[in-house]
Amino acid sequence: MQVALPSGGLDAYTSKAQRARIATEARASANLYCPNCNSPALDSSVANTPAIDFQCPKCTATYQLKAQSCAFSRRIVDAAYSTMVRAIMENRTPSLFAMHYGASDWVVENVILIPHFAFPLSAIEKRKPLAETARRAGWIGCNILLHSIPPDARIQIVSDGKPLSPATVRAQYARIRPLANLDANQRGWTLDVLNVVRSLGKQEFYLAEVYKSEEQLARLHPANRHVRDKIRQQLQVLRDLGILEFLRPGEYRIR
Ligand SMILES: [Zn+2]
Repeated sequence: MQVALPSGGLDAYTSKAQRARIATEARASANLYCPNCNSPALDSSVANTPAIDFQCPKCTATYQLKAQSCAFSRRIVDAAYSTMVRAIMENRTPSLFAMHYGASDWVVENVILIPHFAFPLSAIEKRKPLAETARRAGWIGCNILLHSIPPDARIQIVSDGKPLSPATVRAQYARIRPLANLDANQRGWTLDVLNVVRSLGKQEFYLAEVYKSEEQLARLHPANRHVRDKIRQQLQVLRDLGILEFLRPGEYRIR
């Protein structure tokens, strides 16, 4: 992926936001490839859906691009809250390319990919309704909380101005792709438990260490009163998907 943003043809646009949108979309359109298959290119939206910017001509995977000039911190501003929640539950969220570009040097600094199956509801934060004085008064947007998405599913495509090889990106995507086979209503639990496991910061871990996050998981899933059972069940799900392996009773390893 070429990281310099195109600057030609932008004179017609007076607003900074518009120029950035045109340039980042052009860069993405010319450079992005499909992480889900070996297609070297993506089509600019043929789907005629507002949330979808690109589609793979080979495997039909859909993608959305969000570009911002500030570095990724904890949140990415997304669209309407209810639309996003419904899309997750109905399993029709596009995968997200989040792009961070430098507004002064006009280069792509970072791009991360969040696969469509990797958004737990816990990562969708409701924003305050727009004020009565706003044009869309009462409208409720949402933020995507990056730290609520397991690091396995925040796939670096460009890191600090350096593109990673498509082979590396596709291998990382393929490793977690089995999560796509889970029921959309169950997947949130699996992602939340994987995120807790990752937060331990080690390859091998004990069940007792995951239990320490029981309260945090209970807050994310207030309807479930058997959180420890659920944790054990989700560790089994992650093992069956090939993401974890069981070493001994109560002892696990990340694959
Ligand atoms: Zn594809």
